[in-house]
Amino acid sequence: MTFLLHDKHPESVCSGINPLKQLLIIVVFVGLTACNEPSSSSEPQAGETPIQSRDDSRPGDVTAARIVATDDEPGNWLAHGRDFGEQRYSPLEDINRDNVTRLGLAWETGTNSTRGLEATPIIVDGVMYTTSTWSRVMALDAKSGAVLWQYDPEVQKSWAKRLCCDVVNRGVAVSEGVVYVGTLDGFLIALDAASGAVKWRVDTLIDRDRYYSITGAPRVVKGKVIIGNGGAEFNVRGYVSAYDKSSGALDWRFFTVPGSAEGPFEHDELALAAPTWDPDSNFEGVGGTAWDSMAYDPELDLLYVGTGNGSPWSQYARSPSGGDNLFLASIIALDPDNGEMAWHYQTTPGDAWDYTATQHMILADLDIDGTPRKVLMQAPKNGFFYVLDRVTGKVISAEKYVFTNWASHVNLETGRPEPTGLGDYSLQERYVYPSVAGGHNWQPMSFSRKTGLVYIPSRDIGWVHNETGDKWFEYGVDNADELLTGQEPPENSGYLKAWDPVKQQLAWQMILPNVWNGGALSTAGGLVFHGTASGHFYALNDETGEVLLDLFTGTGMIAAPVTYSVDGVQYVVIMAGWGGPAFNTLAGDEALLKYRNSGRVLAFKLDGGDVPLPPAVPPRGPFPQPPDISASAEILEQGRILFVYNCGGCHGMYGSTPMLPDLRRLSHEKHDLFKQIVLEGLYEPLGMASFAGDLSEAEVDAIQAYVVQLSREAVATQTE
Ligand code: CA
Repeated sequence: MTFLLHDKHPESVCSGINPLKQLLIIVVFVGLTACNEPSSSSEPQAGETPIQSRDDSRPGDVTAARIVATDDEPGNWLAHGRDFGEQRYSPLEDINRDNVTRLGLAWETGTNSTRGLEATPIIVDGVMYTTSTWSRVMALDAKSGAVLWQYDPEVQKSWAKRLCCDVVNRGVAVSEGVVYVGTLDGFLIALDAASGAVKWRVDTLIDRDRYYSITGAPRVVKGKVIIGNGGAEFNVRGYVSAYDKSSGALDWRFFTVPGSAEGPFEHDELALAAPTWDPDSNFEGVGGTAWDSMAYDPELDLLYVGTGNGSPWSQYARSPSGGDNLFLASIIALDPDNGEMAWHYQTTPGDAWDYTATQHMILADLDIDGTPRKVLMQAPKNGFFYVLDRVTGKVISAEKYVFTNWASHVNLETGRPEPTGLGDYSLQERYVYPSVAGGHNWQPMSFSRKTGLVYIPSRDIGWVHNETGDKWFEYGVDNADELLTGQEPPENSGYLKAWDPVKQQLAWQMILPNVWNGGALSTAGGLVFHGTASGHFYALNDETGEVLLDLFTGTGMIAAPVTYSVDGVQYVVIMAGWGGPAFNTLAGDEALLKYRNSGRVLAFKLDGGDVPLPPAVPPRGPFPQPPDISASAEILEQGRILFVYNCGGCHGMYGSTPMLPDLRRLSHEKHDLFKQIVLEGLYEPLGMASFAGDLSEAEVDAIQAYVVQLSREAVATQTE
């Protein structure tokens, strides 16, 4: 349903001096009380001049021609990666190296959320379209932050247990007056850009009983809305679909993995893929979900889609006889008219490490060895930075951008990585680099046309894999030395790396204490912007990495900033709110442990104000003694494994995240209700799904015993 909003700045709405905004407001608020005080705590500093717009435009009037010519209107950010090639480079330069120290808050708007915000806002003619948790959509006045409308698809909170990595969404697509969003529960929805009213809604899932989800942003290409889905941690079968943007009718669907060994196949490409699988694989759900990245080349008329990991992770279990397992962990080039594949490039044949190739792809024209090349660049999870010829899919170069031990190099003749054997966990446990979080994950990169560098949000951490999969969600293990004999990985670190894609080498890097930070934006102002888990918003010199600006916001950031202008004033905006997979990396964190993880849209401009800090986390006091529940070591180990599989994704593998109540502090009363909460859905309205049917009573007992054990350890150490 569409929510009718309390405007945040009553005088600017109701004074009648702002024609376009008034039009928008009237469309939305007709017949309603539009001027109530907001529930949000934000205080926009709205000016009173009319917002910039083309006189003849309707709200959200994005066309393919406008996106192709996006540099002619640098004040807008019309598509997910700004242009079809998804470079995330803005020609705006009013904010530049000389004046960026003057950057301050223009406005902020609360998102009424406490979990991860990952969206890239779209800005069209002074209006911002973005998303927050639970696939909720917001339209904001880009100059003031005033909320124009909101739409909540009312995803059932129980859907949360079907997600690997939080109730997140990475944004909308906007085209010709319509806003498109994919929802956690698998619907693709078209909204009127003026009002947020639903125009159509289609179910994209082939099986609602399987744990599919949508977290990625749709793209609109040639009159079609393109969307994939997530779920490859949960035995689903990946595919990407194209819907008619006007009617919502399904135009084509490309399955990224076969549904059987021998056919019949839904499309010819699967006949190519099937022989690369063990015929006894469980084809009901072998993974390959296309859950995030896409790019489009209008000249070549090719749509590029990144595909995900195998399901389960262990290839030894998934496809025991081996094989490449096409099209897992691949980049596929499709004809957007019919979904026919032009080429594919598999980054990780026979993936066994959750090495998705769903990471951001950037299209650019690079001069390589004196020859102009049309390239596609990607830093997938597997640790190699790839430069591909995007006409043919042939690899031009590939080098490690983070510490990587599973493969030594990529053979440029065959295009295949050369495994070292150190990632082979078929016979023994292995500590593999990069981890399942990837050297780089969904956090967008940025390619500066000015410096020629690609700015990669990245990390060095490893992960313990073994054939039984019982070390899921575990790294930083005690026996690391034993597992890593002869190898010298760096400390666990996050980075923003400036990578030279022609030389395939590091230009500079910023080292960050937390491994899970935000995406990047580069501008013609000679700047790279990014936010961090620790709540810092940085502007760096794009050539040297020198920190020119460090704004402490108190809110952890994982999204990527974008920039735009309204009435000649340049803004930089980011969705602030930490989340995603609940890695336990927060010890001593500057923002996440001290301040509430209250989601907000933060917009900055020159000579803006101070950034207010979020409400502090109340003093928690010492960890309380848990109830007297004990269990054998065997049961505790069973509880640990069950916990990390079923609970760790949201609650953190050690029972604590900044997003949800700390399970180590559960009261005796809550412990008394443990079974009702876990098996009867007592807290389902709060997002705690019932696990009836997933877990037996005995298994819940084991989990509870493990939670009590975690509490005892916390009482002993008193460490948050
Ligand atoms: Ca995955």
